[in-house]
Amino acid sequence: MQFSNLGLIKPILKALAEKGYSTPTEIQQKAIPQVLRGRDLLACAQTGTGKTAGFAIPLIQILAKDQSQSVAPRSMKALIVTPTRELAIQIEDNIRLYSKYTNLRHTVIFGGVSQEKQIRRMKRGVDILVATPGRLLDLEGQGHISFDSVSRLVLDEADRMLDMGFVRDIQKILKLLPPKRQTLFFSATMPDSIKSLTKKILHNPVEVSAHVVSSAAETVQQRKYYTNKSSKKDLLYHVLSEEDLDQVLLFTRTKRGADRIARDLKKKRIESMAIHGDKSQGQRQRALDNFKKGQLRVLVATDIAARGIDIDKLECVINYDVPEVPETYVHRIGRTGRAGENGLAISIVEPEENASIKAIEKLINRRIPQEREHPFPQTEKPMTAAEKKEWNKEKARRRQAFHSNRRKARAMSR
Ligand code: AMP
Repeated sequence: MQFSNLGLIKPILKALAEKGYSTPTEIQQKAIPQVLRGRDLLACAQTGTGKTAGFAIPLIQILAKDQSQSVAPRSMKALIVTPTRELAIQIEDNIRLYSKYTNLRHTVIFGGVSQEKQIRRMKRGVDILVATPGRLLDLEGQGHISFDSVSRLVLDEADRMLDMGFVRDIQKILKLLPPKRQTLFFSATMPDSIKSLTKKILHNPVEVSAHVVSSAAETVQQRKYYTNKSSKKDLLYHVLSEEDLDQVLLFTRTKRGADRIARDLKKKRIESMAIHGDKSQGQRQRALDNFKKGQLRVLVATDIAARGIDIDKLECVINYDVPEVPETYVHRIGRTGRAGENGLAISIVEPEENASIKAIEKLINRRIPQEREHPFPQTEKPMTAAEKKEWNKEKARRRQAFHSNRRKARAMSR
């Protein structure tokens, strides 16, 4: 199956060919013909399956065809709602790419930044709008956006939107939209809350699914290194110097951990930046852009900040901290080896994480090959329950001592 077999118009095929995409992914093969037929869609798919192009390409085709037959002034005909700013920006990037040889206009709006520029772009007129729910309702409430001509709606990452507490916003948006429309609904999981929502808003939908979880595990080469807690950083430098890796997404459990690693890597002249929830939208976007442009070798991220991030052909994911929840591992390694590309996932395991890596191997039903040839092997044993209790007490004592010393020093300097 090729894109040219899907009945797509020339301007889209040209853009796809330029990008080097010839074969549609599973979700694209299933979704594109149905969306072109005007059917509602209920798609179970997550980031990494090519789902964005799965809805963007047929929508662009439908709107481009309508536009060529109409003399009506430009108005918003397709609305794409997605939970986060990062996803919204990525979706618009995709739309820009696939629609570059059409006359369609599109823009993206999201919260956390000034609204003026967004209002100006809306005033100029757009055919396709990508938005996060809060800012969308905000600008609608202020009269800067009209939903009157919207005939196609995409709800992207619906499960996440509900998780993030957007359910009321979504309901409000649905009420404001014209009832006669085509709705495309995407969700990575289908809990009961999602199923009942889809029953209310979809009309006789075609159901399609594509799973990235197992396919990611197929194309991603996985490796684990056992080491001591104290030698983790040295092992990381060793891996980065031994392996010829240009683009690494490195995961840490905590925001502070992410900042620390990014700082230490920079000291070693390894270009790196951290993204996490405490960074401003601007800082996060800058780090992501620099990484995409190849100016950063290592992007350090926490799980929440990295969810949904899409970087073309990401070479390698490093688990600097092994996640305690095994499913998180699958999400992390799904960032590499995307859409059929090969990828590498490295886990650096300290004694306290031995049990976590075992739980991961159980979930993915395979043993992760162990790299034994390295200078920092694991020599320590995981703590016993009693030792752990002692260690936690000791940590609390040290924390207290640190804060009390700092208080004293501050009082003296006053
Ligand atoms: P998505 O699931 O939409 O986030 O897409 C995951 C990644 O796959 C993105 O980097 C896309 O640009 C890429 N991609 C989408 N469709 C294709 C395709 N047909 N062939 C190769 N890569 C693709």
